[in-house]
Amino acid sequence: MTALGAGGHRYVAVAILVLLSMAPATSGAGAQTRAEAADPTVLITGANRGIGLELAREYAAAGWHVIGTARKPDEATELKALGAEVEQLDVTDQGSVDRLAADLRGRPIDILINNAGIQLLMWKLGEVDIDKYNRTLAVNTVGPVRVTLALLPNLRAGDRKLIVNMTSDISSIANNTSGGFYGYRESKAALNMFTRSLAAELGPEGFICIVLHPGWVKTDMGGPKAPITVQESVHGILKVVDGLSPDDNGTFLTYAGERMAW
Ligand code: NAP
Repeated sequence: MTALGAGGHRYVAVAILVLLSMAPATSGAGAQTRAEAADPTVLITGANRGIGLELAREYAAAGWHVIGTARKPDEATELKALGAEVEQLDVTDQGSVDRLAADLRGRPIDILINNAGIQLLMWKLGEVDIDKYNRTLAVNTVGPVRVTLALLPNLRAGDRKLIVNMTSDISSIANNTSGGFYGYRESKAALNMFTRSLAAELGPEGFICIVLHPGWVKTDMGGPKAPITVQESVHGILKVVDGLSPDDNGTFLTYAGERMAW
């Protein structure tokens, strides 16, 4: 027995534990800061501009820990300025998706928003270019599948268990009477079907998986003639996502909370 005695040892042990808990949070790949541990976490793909950037801004302002992905993180200055954790991600590159998953291993994610997307306009059959068609499917359909599979362990560890796949109203097969938008419509319709399957398989684990139409929005993709601003769209999206209940699992919703026909 040392001079401290058994009780003294207990005090030293408690003091060491308290000091350890007060030590600065670590940083680096895979490490988690205390803020990240305490705050709910949302991961948004394609968060360097457009709807993704505004989602990052509003979630950060609401106190969420935001992991925003960008193909070129060095150029994602607005995203970094929000205090978001910026991760490199090209959804068409399996190596990039694997690196993201490795960086985030062991970290719970509450909401995944598969937002990254492209629209390569092909209006008429004569304009359909198979390379553009394949690229559209690679980004808009296969991309969210890759990301969801890679981050499923993180989502299973999260409290909210929400997967939000950004679709478009023009993916609705029921509402397609005009044609056009070759490749884009199909890519999002396939994403819708993937989401229904996710909902069926993951619903029993407490997941809510939806596809969401953000409206026709003034972004690089939506163009200047779009009737709604990114702020209007994202205010609506946050409200819809915040109000999701298990009954919404497997639904196709708009930013205004309306259900859309498949
Ligand atoms: P946007 O302004 O064109 O931004 C697209 C985002 O996706 C950018 O961050 C872009 O990154 C990223 N991205 C593109 N290819 C990628 C890839 N291979 N890997 C990772 N990220 C990639 O588009 P938006 O208007 O914000 O649209 C966001 C989502 O809403 C899309 O899924 C879109 O289909 C959907 N949506 C938009 C509208 C609309 O009116 N705007 C309507 C319906 C649905 P880079 O900067 O590196 O290119």
